[in-house]
Amino acid sequence: MSDTPKLAPEALSTALIHHPYQAPGGFEAPQQPVHKASTVLFPDVAAVRSRRWLDKSSYTYGLHGTPTSFVLEERLCALEGARQCLLVPSGLSALSTVSLALLSAGDEVLLPDNAYGPNKDFAQVELARWGIGHQFYDPMSVDDLRSKIGPQTRLVWLEAAGSVTMEFPDLLAQVRLCKERGVVCALDNTWGAGLAFSPFDLLRDGGSLGVDVSVHALTKYPSGGGDVLMGSITTCAQALHMGIKLCHMRLGLGVGANDVELVLRSLPSIALRYHAQDKTARTLAQALQRQSAVVQVLHPALPGSPGHAHWQQVCGAAQDGLGAAAGIFSFVLDARFDQDTVDAFCNRLQWLRLGYSWGGHMSLVMPYDLDEMRHHGRGAVAAGRLVRLCIGLEDAADLERDLAQAYEAVFGEDWV
Ligand SMILES: *Cc1c(COP(=O)(O)O)cnc(C)c1O
Repeated sequence: MSDTPKLAPEALSTALIHHPYQAPGGFEAPQQPVHKASTVLFPDVAAVRSRRWLDKSSYTYGLHGTPTSFVLEERLCALEGARQCLLVPSGLSALSTVSLALLSAGDEVLLPDNAYGPNKDFAQVELARWGIGHQFYDPMSVDDLRSKIGPQTRLVWLEAAGSVTMEFPDLLAQVRLCKERGVVCALDNTWGAGLAFSPFDLLRDGGSLGVDVSVHALTKYPSGGGDVLMGSITTCAQALHMGIKLCHMRLGLGVGANDVELVLRSLPSIALRYHAQDKTARTLAQALQRQSAVVQVLHPALPGSPGHAHWQQVCGAAQDGLGAAAGIFSFVLDARFDQDTVDAFCNRLQWLRLGYSWGGHMSLVMPYDLDEMRHHGRGAVAAGRLVRLCIGLEDAADLERDLAQAYEAVFGEDWV
């Protein structure tokens, strides 16, 4: 029941904005409320002058945080074992923001050759325009990384497992090397998602060895729906966080509250989804390993896959010793099959749809031309054409039947 008296028409505009009704407090529900704002209101000028957004103790402007964004940041800190978190509009903007915040003209950044492709492009094109150098190192050779760290090196990017070819590097040795040489190391932790290993506590001893910065494409597992683009930057060291936070503020990066809400809604099920997708992916990876047209399966949890021993060391303790891995892997087809044939196989799949990204409920497939993507050659990857599968939440047997029908129809061999 409203006590508001009936208003004259000319008073209506103002009344609809400055209406006196306040809903009672004390509303509690399982889902976080969605607070949206560019403008944040202050009770008086003293509050305008005294509020501090940098330490998140109060609110000043939508871009500097809302209760909704703070809640997601805190939950992501819990997921990654970090102290501070910044939200950005995509995984790629998380990568580029870290590079922009930490590098100046004359500095150099090192990236693994199997890094997420657009992160390499960003160094080659955008950072180069600002006089920042880069080198690509062999992710499977700590000696190569060691030889490339020079007096100008300010940042080393790490990725475990690497994009598309899925090699798992000697992450512990890489991080130790960066610490010895006093160079900041930032991990693209989209694959591990905070679940396969703990980026700030790699030895599981409370944090004696960890990366300096972890970047996560929330677009993948935290969103889980193939519908939201977002990224996060998490850290443990306050000074490092502040440097990135100020750059983030000056770049004007913000995320929409409705997108934050979607990630908050998906986050409680992330571990269930991650491990279910891992299980199905491993089943399918093993099935593909048995097929005569497949010369190599690239999945770090499979013995014989590049970096399997390093995966075992860092991720092997998860899941009561089963180890944990993302539900994404690649396989190489015998070199006698040309690109048209491999493309026909991808087109023929019914449940596995053609599309980029991963970590959602729908399984995806994509052929890749490796020779266009690598500066150090193929490394341990066998000759032949590569196909990547991102496993969703469909029934594993249905997905295997789908692979089998396309395989038999296109390659003319029995699925065993
Ligand atoms: C997808 C992805 C990104 C980028 O995320 P977007 O939100 O699509 O920009 C970064 N790193 C890795 C490893 C990824 O797979």
